[in-house]
Amino acid sequence: MTPPANLRLTIDTAALAENWRRLARAGGSAACGAAVKADGYGLGADAVVAALAGVGCRDFFVATWAEAAALRVPAGARLAVLHGVQDGEMRMALASPAVPVLCTPRQVAAWREASPGRACDVMIDTGMNRLGLAPADLGVLDGLAIDTLHSHLACADAPGDPMNAAQSGAFRAVVARVPARRASLANSAGIMLGPDFAFDLTRPGIGLYGGGVAGVAAVAGLEARVIQVRDVTAGASVGYGATWTAPRPTRTAVLNIGYADGYPRGLSNRGTVHAGGAACPVVGRVSMDLMAVDVTGADVAEGDWLRLDFDLPTAAAASGHSQYELLTGLGHRYSRRYQ
Ligand SMILES: *Cc1c(COP(=O)(O)O)cnc(C)c1O
Repeated sequence: MTPPANLRLTIDTAALAENWRRLARAGGSAACGAAVKADGYGLGADAVVAALAGVGCRDFFVATWAEAAALRVPAGARLAVLHGVQDGEMRMALASPAVPVLCTPRQVAAWREASPGRACDVMIDTGMNRLGLAPADLGVLDGLAIDTLHSHLACADAPGDPMNAAQSGAFRAVVARVPARRASLANSAGIMLGPDFAFDLTRPGIGLYGGGVAGVAAVAGLEARVIQVRDVTAGASVGYGATWTAPRPTRTAVLNIGYADGYPRGLSNRGTVHAGGAACPVVGRVSMDLMAVDVTGADVAEGDWLRLDFDLPTAAAASGHSQYELLTGLGHRYSRRYQ
């Protein structure tokens, strides 16, 4: 018998699809892909791929071959592995329908030797100094069958940063020199920088999941159960460190969710939870598996399900975590519902 989960993660697949359509429109004539690494940013890569394939997405991106092997990608769609082929991964890569995004001269040499003529993608570093071939390494690409040339923006979330124009200019120069079927530069925020950044294919991630850029809809909804309701007398404190003291007689609800579930400790005394129509503040420190909310005046009983406020920009600003960390950190104790 499987014990019932007392935490729910609801994934709004209609919002996910609508966010993809919005990003696809913003990218103009470029095809719009989807980054589904880290299990679809924590929301379930298989379900994300199915929902987005259903509305026309044909290019998916994961980080590793383990992620590629675990993912079901429908016929007609393409899966690319962003970390390329590292030592010990070549057999896996050759047996997989997924395509590596080669990112070092050594990976390029190994791919050429193992599978002459077989198409691959290539990552070019245009100034982020993370993964990718330096412009000085481009000679190693001569004669390689390249499907898509990629680069990645370091400062796309800061539209005024001169690094954006410098990177798109540097990438354009590489695209002019290196023969490939397509070129791809923009992540979610990069799409919003305008047509100079879209090239042939975009690779949004966070925007699909309701974060990072303006105008996208929330996808992830969190609900937890009330394990206990208690009356706290004025002057008594709640939680570790006694960081909150009741200013008046207060009714609190203790919920079975904590930072082990990705509810950030930074939302201690800051987050809110919804009980009926009321927004109830988190009181005291969020602990590993539990936290308390002030439900004074709301109709809340032991066993009730309450919806947590998890608006990504607000929760990121309040907790000090990035929106990416909030999603990918959600943990494993939820039952996931796709609707
Ligand atoms: C994760 C990733 C993306 C998606 O970025 P978002 O900021 O989530 O839109 C795109 N390209 C590469 C290379 C990535 O690693």
